[in-house]
Amino acid sequence: MKNTQSKLKISRNKFIKSAMGACSLCAAGIAVASSKVMAQTAPPEAEQPQTARMGFTSPREAAWFSSVEDSKIECALCPNGCRLKPGERSLCRVRENRDGKGYTLAHSNPALIQEDPVERKPFFHVLPGTRALSISTAGCNLSCKFCEVWDMALVDPEEVHAYDMPPEAVVKHAMDAGLKSLSYAFGEPVIFYEYMKKTAEKAREQGLLNLMHTAAYINSEPLQEICNSVDAVNVDLKSFDQEFYREVVGGELQPVLDSLKTIREKGLHLEITTIVIPTLNDDMEMINEMCRWIKNELGPDVPLHLARFYPLYQLSGLPRTPVSTLDQARETAMQAGLNHVYVSRVTGHEGENTFCPGCGEKIINRVGFVIDSMDIQEGKCSHCSREISGIWA
Ligand code: SF4
Repeated sequence: MKNTQSKLKISRNKFIKSAMGACSLCAAGIAVASSKVMAQTAPPEAEQPQTARMGFTSPREAAWFSSVEDSKIECALCPNGCRLKPGERSLCRVRENRDGKGYTLAHSNPALIQEDPVERKPFFHVLPGTRALSISTAGCNLSCKFCEVWDMALVDPEEVHAYDMPPEAVVKHAMDAGLKSLSYAFGEPVIFYEYMKKTAEKAREQGLLNLMHTAAYINSEPLQEICNSVDAVNVDLKSFDQEFYREVVGGELQPVLDSLKTIREKGLHLEITTIVIPTLNDDMEMINEMCRWIKNELGPDVPLHLARFYPLYQLSGLPRTPVSTLDQARETAMQAGLNHVYVSRVTGHEGENTFCPGCGEKIINRVGFVIDSMDIQEGKCSHCSREISGIWA
């Protein structure tokens, strides 16, 4: 646990700076990742711009805490099960004990607000070709050595620039921009659970879809509850090896497998992402075992994204994943019986496309995140009428 009195560290938040820039955000909330976004979301003249503030937080009482002994509190949100003394900060960096009560510092203060194709979340079977608004805060309950947003996720909320953006403002921005969905992604939404839940409820009232991209390191009860407000989930299944989870991820494998089953049982659309890392989780026997488990426990139509690893953070000494390894992994996954196996981050790869499991025809042609053509009508293959898993309208 961490003491809340500790001094702030120097910000290393280059990722967020590049996503957010030295930009301003209109009072209703503006994504600023591209000039196109800015053009789509120009604020009414009367609205004053809002500037991201270093370390902005909006503390409020957190869910899932209960009192134990001596003013200690215990969190039941994730398997880490933090027990906090007064003044202590949690492993996920955003929860703390204030005078015997649990508080969250990850509510209404996104460090990332970004609008981009739903394919980037990545969801390949949810409203293809539409755009989604993503939000994320600082903090994470895992500590992956290959974290791609380490300078947002693996730092305290005091170390990032964040916006004052309550749930209503997030939803309003998405509606004003004509978007179809909100995405709780890039960072780890489990740790901003209360913010996600309230935003998702407001979004659903307005007919927006709620998409969650998560490592699924969460306990069963809170997961079941959030599933009532979310439409689709992409789970990072980082490996099928317990030792990998302990050594490289900082967690346990079994809770993630349990979460995957819960999400399926709740009837949500589910996709899975695995970043294939040279020498660490690229063993084909392990990939075969993982894919057989997915097929048997979750079903053969769950899309699997095999993503290319690029060296960064604590694994900067490893090479990027050879395309031949991704090819082999994809072949292994299809041989194991999975019907939708994608290769991510290799633009132009055959594995970016969707093929009908019934007749084998290409039914979505993609180039990167761009949809070139789609032969799915009312959720069925246009060629053979086989149902295709996903949310299509
Ligand atoms: S969500 Fe955070 S505070 Fe709660 S158990 Fe997990 S790491 Fe600890």
